[in-house]
Amino acid sequence: MLKIVKFGGSSLASGENFKKVKDIVTSDPSRRVVVVSAPGKRHKDDNKVTDLLYVCHAHIRYKVSFEDIWQNISDRYLEIAKTCGLSDAVSNYLADTRATFGSKSTADEIVSRGEYLNARLMAEYLGYDFVDATEWLFFNYDGTVDYEKTYKTLQNLFKEHQAMVLPGFYGVYPDGKLHTFSRGGSDVTGAIAAAALSADCYENFTDVSGILMADPKIVDNPKSIERITFSELRELSYMGAEVLHEETVFPVRQANIPLYIKNTQRPEDKGTLIMESFTDESDEEAQRFITGITGKKHFSIITISKNRMTDDFSFIRRVLQLTEKHHLHVEHIPSSVDSFSLVISTEELSYCLHGLITDIQKECAPDSIKVCDGVSLVASVGRRMAFNSGVSGKIFAALGKKGINIRMIEQGADEINIIVGVMDSDFKETIRTLYESFT
Ligand code: ASP
Repeated sequence: MLKIVKFGGSSLASGENFKKVKDIVTSDPSRRVVVVSAPGKRHKDDNKVTDLLYVCHAHIRYKVSFEDIWQNISDRYLEIAKTCGLSDAVSNYLADTRATFGSKSTADEIVSRGEYLNARLMAEYLGYDFVDATEWLFFNYDGTVDYEKTYKTLQNLFKEHQAMVLPGFYGVYPDGKLHTFSRGGSDVTGAIAAAALSADCYENFTDVSGILMADPKIVDNPKSIERITFSELRELSYMGAEVLHEETVFPVRQANIPLYIKNTQRPEDKGTLIMESFTDESDEEAQRFITGITGKKHFSIITISKNRMTDDFSFIRRVLQLTEKHHLHVEHIPSSVDSFSLVISTEELSYCLHGLITDIQKECAPDSIKVCDGVSLVASVGRRMAFNSGVSGKIFAALGKKGINIRMIEQGADEINIIVGVMDSDFKETIRTLYESFT
């Protein structure tokens, strides 16, 4: 049995948290590969080490002294080493790292040191081998992962190092230069390690007991989701739920490895299990149609009308060619007989709204174009709503009762989500109302 365990920044923010991590790892002998983030925030007003390292890079770039920030960073690691009774090696790691910072250092080189140093300390603390990401995580020049080379190399390293700590977040280009994933990328490192080593599961430890059914800033004490499929997770994440780095899912999904989200502070909690599908739904689970509710604010709806639009075979295509020309992501295209709408993020649109409208008027000659801003999209996601009646009825009844006007409705083709467009001012109330009616 082999489990890959990844700990996020908040789980590694202090020496006290390192102790909790050690308890978790040593409580299960199959937790032999540990992936770490850089130290995160210890409290609300604290700084993440990764953020401080980005600030260091900016200082170096503009030739401003960064000694105070570096001291602040060093103190974080010194505190961890002291609290955990580690050796003096930390001072050498810090000095060596500091010595590499120079005017030619890239942001990726500098920020990757957050994970590097944390992995050094964690390896000593657990008595595991430190294996640097530069030894096994290979990027192509376009920033994608060279999976074949990466998997093979890690498999070989695992033969030598049966218990190892891996720094998350970075790897190397073919020329050996350091490169990082986008923010939160240690999740991806863990997923790649799990897939490479055909692990029995990938446990991602964070500071919440799994994925919540709704945003706790909107709904009081939302329930956590016990089991969710990869497709549901994709829908929830795309629609605004912040759970895992987007690229995490791909390697584990492809290798069919169960992914758990667990809480470092409460490891006994069940957390959330994410899998391709579940064949053993309990009766209670089968009754619950909605897995989670989430949403995003600030969309615009552009409604384009043209008499006898349906007789003009190329009309919609010609309009979409123009959104493509302006590099716009069109989220939804609700339509009626003589008009259709484009739902696009207001921010994206702000850079080219006038150009787009002028182009549509010139090249498609519609009868009218109307733009409505301030729209939110709220998604109710659930694998069990497919082929079950009554879910949409419940959504509309609940929102109608609260006097919330629905501007747009969309159901995904695979029937695992129903999205409603409401005004931004109704955003929170919509999420609360839907949560209450489905729990
Ligand atoms: N430390 C990096 C960040 O803050 C990567 C990670 O934590 O996953 O984004």
